Amino acid sequence: MKTIFEKSVPGKCAISLAPCDVPAYDLDASLLRETPLNLPEVSEVEVVRHYTALSKRAYGVDDGFYPLGSCTMKYNPKLNEEVAALPGFTGIHPLQCECTVQGALKAMHTLSRKLAAITGMDEVTLQPAAGAHGEYTALQLIRAYHLDRGDTGRDKIIVPDSAHGTNPASAAMNGYTVVNIPSAADGCVDLDALRSAVGPDTAALMLTNPNTVGIFDKNIAKIAQIVHDAGGLLYYDGANLNAIMGTIRPGDMGYDVVHLNLHKTFSTPHGGGGPGSGPVGCKAALAKYLPGPVVTEKDGKYHLTSVGGKSIGCVKTFYGNFLVMLRALAYIEVLGKEGIKLASQLAVLNANYMMARLKDKFPTYSSDICMHEFVVSCDKIKEEIGVTALDFAKAMIDRGMHPPTIYFPLIVHEALMFEPTETESKETLDWACDTVLDLVAEAYKDPAAFKQHPRKMPIGRPDEVTAARKPVLIYKA
Ligand SMILES: *Cc1c(COP(=O)(O)O)cnc(C)c1O
Repeated sequence: MKTIFEKSVPGKCAISLAPCDVPAYDLDASLLRETPLNLPEVSEVEVVRHYTALSKRAYGVDDGFYPLGSCTMKYNPKLNEEVAALPGFTGIHPLQCECTVQGALKAMHTLSRKLAAITGMDEVTLQPAAGAHGEYTALQLIRAYHLDRGDTGRDKIIVPDSAHGTNPASAAMNGYTVVNIPSAADGCVDLDALRSAVGPDTAALMLTNPNTVGIFDKNIAKIAQIVHDAGGLLYYDGANLNAIMGTIRPGDMGYDVVHLNLHKTFSTPHGGGGPGSGPVGCKAALAKYLPGPVVTEKDGKYHLTSVGGKSIGCVKTFYGNFLVMLRALAYIEVLGKEGIKLASQLAVLNANYMMARLKDKFPTYSSDICMHEFVVSCDKIKEEIGVTALDFAKAMIDRGMHPPTIYFPLIVHEALMFEPTETESKETLDWACDTVLDLVAEAYKDPAAFKQHPRKMPIGRPDEVTAARKPVLIYKA
């Protein structure tokens, strides 16, 4: 496909402006550009066709099934987009007087209270712009908490080997030493490994529950006890909250601080780099370290209140990604307490349904019952016919299905990690299972040919190492 610049023909134009009816102003020569701006010259219909064609090459949740595990790529109701597009919200400025933006402040205040209720936390900041940013913020709170108590020797963060890569990365960025602990055979935290890892140098354990293999760690109360007895804090990576919201709360499991990914659980489309939102909630003991300003309410009026001297400071310009917050609030208000619970129950049901249909062909990773996602291994198939998880992912693309997450978590070889989400119908799930099972048959019939997928895409199989190490980011004709 040609770029818009290659389609450019000098003299073409997509707009016709009315003649200027105000006097021209001569700008100082120092402010003028020396060479003309290099813009493509195309007609309106060419612009429209170009970008429509480009959009058709992308694949999104609105196109079809998108079971990307650990990401919660669920369909987000369009109503929430409408709410976020209301001019009363999009037309305001963060520096406007608070008396003119009472509705926006109320929306933020209401959302943070609702997220506190859903997570079982006392206070919530909406500032962080993503999950990883929430992790960073939460670790700052954890450090501030320990230091403020004069507990200066806590420089280690414990992370299980099933953790998302952002966990150790956020810990390292905060200057902590990362202590990796292995998972037990059932995919849960190995309690003995945890007991021998904790000590007077433990700042916190970062743990998502259900974990990244889609298993709920039933030992969570014991885990909290072990970490707390050692003087450490328990951090909840909320990326998997879609599996439990409305049913159980991290605060009740013993967690002290959590991050949420509004773009996973609470109805903002994600992928493509954002914007997202990663609110952080904490128990009262950590609240004085939260970033500010915070929205407070007094006698029905909302205020932006600066926080005390113990705050870690501001972590994002102004107040965070406001329009993402609005989608989350609309989602929560529309579903209500029971609807939120039903959404997570359906997410779990859908994952179990798919897992049950696939498990004869692919060994699943431990446990008979999964939460919102499950991991199967292509290890046996690879051994028998040399076909890998990557080959299956590429073949799914040719069938019009977005592949699941592959090769994650690292503890499962040749992993395919499916997260169907609650918004998929039984018909779609059956289609997806039929498709995957059909691909298994195709692979056994002719493994060599199977490795030629995808055949229908503009790019087949790029050299992934070169693509990652030496990306070509500038177009050259
Ligand atoms: C997505 C994810 C993160 C990081 O969240 P971002 O919003 O992408 O920064 C952290 N932990 C887990 C388990 C995740 O799935």
